[in-house]
Amino acid sequence: MICNEKRKQLLEDMNRPDRFWREYTFNKDAPNSALLQESKEEIIEKSIQTAMVMYKKYMKAYAGCSPEEWPARFSLEVEHRYYYEQYEIQKYIALYLPLKKTIVLQHKALNKVQEFIVQNDLCDMFSEEEMRHIAMYHEIFHHIETITPEIYTASRMIKKRLFWVFSYNTSCIAASEVAAVEFSRLMSQSDCHPCVYERLLDMALNDGRLN
Ligand SMILES: [Zn+2]
Repeated sequence: MICNEKRKQLLEDMNRPDRFWREYTFNKDAPNSALLQESKEEIIEKSIQTAMVMYKKYMKAYAGCSPEEWPARFSLEVEHRYYYEQYEIQKYIALYLPLKKTIVLQHKALNKVQEFIVQNDLCDMFSEEEMRHIAMYHEIFHHIETITPEIYTASRMIKKRLFWVFSYNTSCIAASEVAAVEFSRLMSQSDCHPCVYERLLDMALNDGRLN
């Protein structure tokens, strides 16, 4: 793909409405059999509201915080990693480790994105710094889910039936992801939707010259 085509594709993505990205995120993570009690629209709507409530709550509590100060407000450590573990197949940008109360920032992937931005002349649309902040806010939301009793996105369970008698609950990852994406969008105040950055990451990682 040549430079201009990539730019065109990313511009198209930038012009998509938020509604598009909400469904995109939901569909990626929702198990097919999940929607027994609530409709997809209901789950998305409640997840977005949850993100908004948390955004308002913490913006009020920690007004004026710089992006770098946010993890400390939640007593979270930030680990800067420059390699992938052998077992890590997925190329992530950030990771939340609840037991270690740590957010891992993956600079190997971030550096690839930065190279890709420069090589393809996309500096006017994207920045590595903005992407890093968005990824961090996303993981902070997952932490908020663990410290907020009864939060919708984490407490929401899907009932699955096994045979006739047994049923078990599994949490809906899609609800959690929709909310985390929305929270990061609100926190970053970026013109660029977090999902467009995700597309950028995919492009950068699939770009032959950089692998
Ligand atoms: Zn997530």
